[in-house]
Amino acid sequence: MTDAANALPGTEQNHIDRRRYPHGIAFMDGQYLPVSQAKVSVLDYGFLHSDATYDTAHVWEGRFFRLNLHLDRFWRSVERLRMKLPYSRDEVEEILHNCVALSGHKSAYVEMICTRGSSPTFSRDPRQAENRFIAFAVPFGSVASKEQLERGLHVSISGTIRISPKSVDPSIKNYHWLDLVMGLFDAYDAGGETALVLDANGNIAEGPGFNVFIVRDGALRTPAFGVLPGITRRSVFDLCAEIGLPAKAADVSPAELRAADEVFITSTAGGIMPVTRVDAAPIAGGCVGPITRRMIDMYWQKHRDPAWSMPVAHV
Ligand code: PLP
Repeated sequence: MTDAANALPGTEQNHIDRRRYPHGIAFMDGQYLPVSQAKVSVLDYGFLHSDATYDTAHVWEGRFFRLNLHLDRFWRSVERLRMKLPYSRDEVEEILHNCVALSGHKSAYVEMICTRGSSPTFSRDPRQAENRFIAFAVPFGSVASKEQLERGLHVSISGTIRISPKSVDPSIKNYHWLDLVMGLFDAYDAGGETALVLDANGNIAEGPGFNVFIVRDGALRTPAFGVLPGITRRSVFDLCAEIGLPAKAADVSPAELRAADEVFITSTAGGIMPVTRVDAAPIAGGCVGPITRRMIDMYWQKHRDPAWSMPVAHV
């Protein structure tokens, strides 16, 4: 733990929690504290009703990646849910930098959250709730393990239908994850390592914390309907534009996914990650395909490009 983090309140009693929580720094109710001590009230509607929005950015080798895009999406989500952040955008940005700097992590997973909060009278009227802002930085994590990144993930298509975009707008990043979690259990039961769930029309939607792309005849496609427009997904479009590869957002059926030349998934948690098996069928002969490899290389190179990344400010 860094000296700065050791100076935070309560750190000295942290020896039990440290075994259960990754090391990190949170900002909550106006103060920085070890992530193990950042605790939300059971009366917060973020907990009781999943009435919250969030965004996850990342820092790689000391640099935030496309932080402005994450802040744009977070701000849009907060406004659409009719919440009010108690901090300006510049202040939130500073808090995120501080969490990373205090944590001492060179590569971090950085989450910003706004919950509905609670009202002093426990009113059920959401307009009376005092919204709560929380942020934290913990070590960088990935959807895929090192081995899975090298040999490609084995994905299973779950019969679970993604929550309808007519009920919960998927472009507002949210914690309505029961469909995704049950999809994961379906996938594990079927021998897969992670899941893809379907949209209401039976097409592929997305997975627990990631979007999906297929490559067919040199062109890329990712589902358009009922998905979170991921920042990593957007990065793939930007990379394709740079090198003149055709890419579009449009329906992808399970049959098209299985017949694809290449498949990969995208998430802030891991970047661009190859898929080499869908259910029982190998993709690209069970090897990571050339376009996927090129996308992965370009994506990580951009982490040093000042147009795509910025250094973490020291406290
Ligand atoms: N889809 C869902 C449901 C997600 O929760 C996430 C990220 O957490 C993504 C897609 C990928 O989005 P991003 O690339 O912005 O991390």
